[in-house]
Amino acid sequence: MGGKFLLYEMSWVEAKEYFARSNIAVLPVGSTEQHGPANPLGTDHLVAKVIAEEVAKRTEVLCLPTVPFGVSSHHRQFWGTISVSPRVFKAYVKDVCLALYYYGVRKIVVVNGHGGNLGVLSELARELREKGIFLSVFQWWTASAKLLPELFTSEERLHASAEETSVNLALFPHLVATSKTVDEETRKHPARAEGVTLPLDTVDFTSCGVWGKSTAASADKGEKVLKAVIEELVWHVEALKKAEGSDLESKSLV
Ligand SMILES: [Zn+2]
Repeated sequence: MGGKFLLYEMSWVEAKEYFARSNIAVLPVGSTEQHGPANPLGTDHLVAKVIAEEVAKRTEVLCLPTVPFGVSSHHRQFWGTISVSPRVFKAYVKDVCLALYYYGVRKIVVVNGHGGNLGVLSELARELREKGIFLSVFQWWTASAKLLPELFTSEERLHASAEETSVNLALFPHLVATSKTVDEETRKHPARAEGVTLPLDTVDFTSCGVWGKSTAASADKGEKVLKAVIEELVWHVEALKKAEGSDLESKSLV
């Protein structure tokens, strides 16, 4: 690929050469939403971009520009959150995937930086498999909870808490106001019960936007997380490159 792996840096001639020899691409998606008083609104798409681009470089797979908006209306009471509806997000990502399909791409790895996008992306992935596109969705915090279970407590792995702040400290220390990290006591709804999903927004649980504890954040822990999740995703992309036929296609009747 002549060293280039970012679509937005290539000419169409270079893109043509890539699509002639490869049918896989990486697509980072995220959100623009509040991450408490210490972290930037761009956290979810900035982190997804770094992970996606690093993995693309190591695996020599094409990486697309990042989709910066996602399904975040539950954060809207905190200023600066820019959300799109699930319907619009799904249609937008689908059209991006179909544009890749036109050039022969049949495998797409979505690096999703925001958990609120997962429902839509899972639905879309099943739909696209019917059309001949195999879309996998990677979430770094899900991987890190499995790969590095000791690094953070469960209260430090929630929205804008210590783990996410640590990753920001490792990547964008100039964007983190460390003095504003907090250990937040989240409110519990009076009707909360096991097995019940309530239609609540983030503001129902926390007045500063942080779920759980963020004061234990450090750049060192963030680097450990990034190293582990990038290696895991490299493994997945390499395996997906080799996958073919019945590993990818949706099955007909048994
Ligand atoms: Zn986030």
